Amino acid sequence: MRVINARLRDHIGLCDIVVANEKISSIKEHDSETVPVGDEIYDAKGYLTVPQFCENHIHLDYANTAGVPRDNQSGTLFEAIEIWRDRKEAGLTRPEEIKHNALLAVRSCVEHGVGFIRSHADVTDPDLIALKVLLELRDEVKEWCEIQVVAFPQNGIIAFPHGKELMEKAMSMGADVVGGIPHLEPTYEDGVESLKFIFDLAQKHNAMVDVHCDEIDDPESRFVDIMAAETTKRGMQGRVTVSHAVAMGYYPPGYLARLLPKLVESEVGFAVAPRENLQLQGRDFGAPTPRGVAPIRMLADRGISVAFSQDSICDPWYPIGDGNPMLNMDSGLHVGHMLTAQYIDRCLDFISYNPAANMGLQDRYGLDEGKSASFLILGATTDREALRIQPRVLLSVHKGKEVFRQAAPVIEWKT
Ligand SMILES: [Zn+2]
Repeated sequence: MRVINARLRDHIGLCDIVVANEKISSIKEHDSETVPVGDEIYDAKGYLTVPQFCENHIHLDYANTAGVPRDNQSGTLFEAIEIWRDRKEAGLTRPEEIKHNALLAVRSCVEHGVGFIRSHADVTDPDLIALKVLLELRDEVKEWCEIQVVAFPQNGIIAFPHGKELMEKAMSMGADVVGGIPHLEPTYEDGVESLKFIFDLAQKHNAMVDVHCDEIDDPESRFVDIMAAETTKRGMQGRVTVSHAVAMGYYPPGYLARLLPKLVESEVGFAVAPRENLQLQGRDFGAPTPRGVAPIRMLADRGISVAFSQDSICDPWYPIGDGNPMLNMDSGLHVGHMLTAQYIDRCLDFISYNPAANMGLQDRYGLDEGKSASFLILGATTDREALRIQPRVLLSVHKGKEVFRQAAPVIEWKT
């Protein structure tokens, strides 16, 4: 496959990209003289070419379940967890249904340009049904979307009967990443113990770590600190992601000033879900209402990898969502006060290179010769324009194979 007239960031002229054996074999200045023979040709017509987007944090096993067994009336995270517990206890988590709903969610993400997904799978279930389903799905869609599955203890590791054994079993069955939820363990000490267990388990399986950390409107929830310390102490820099980190938005400046250098040193990445947490957090505070999103500009200013993610598609936590990374990016940049040139001219990093680094894909990810041929043609010419107009994905290629293409929209003015 050969894509001609592709616009690359940081490159003045248009380029031709040649794909062979799932990889980018060459990127050269567009050559209008030489007509290649034998290649399938796609004319990008000067539109922007970027790597396929990465969805750093989503729950595919929860997707498309909103309203069953009931709607979340309060809109809080705690009611969502209660609804999910009731759903599991009522036996409403049938494997065929989870797979059907999860596949719809994967397709929705992919249609918005995603090629790589990290999904949590709830393992606080003695039968590990969601995990088995997502491991199967990971295999079934791998030709057109790469999925990492996180062993995620929704109801805690210490708090849930046989929590540690279930986590061990999930990793032995093939989960890729070790998850956790320390702020929902019964005590602070239990939360710390759960984190030490998580890091031990990750080291045992040579796996990455991705923890729901401090997703709570409580300025005293301080597990990000422990995650940074454990990462540094164990030499796991670059292999650990902090998800959500909502409480950081409430930390006093003095504490943050002490924490930020530790985060830089530990090289933890952050996956934040601005739309989801704008919906869930900061309720019942009166005015002014805190918005419950980590201080992402502060993190990004210090060079920490921040990814904007979806978290939920139509589930008890979040009643809408369709897996469009550009919408999450738009919300994140707004809530983070990041509509400055420094960020809007590189905004696609927050849904491409940053999550790719958090997901450990960086060695094969990107628009360079020798990298995986997983890229998009967007209906825009710059990052800033993409943010402004939310363009269509005109072409999506995953590991050298075309996933889909669609025409740029045409409006027929009648006046
Ligand atoms: Zn989550």
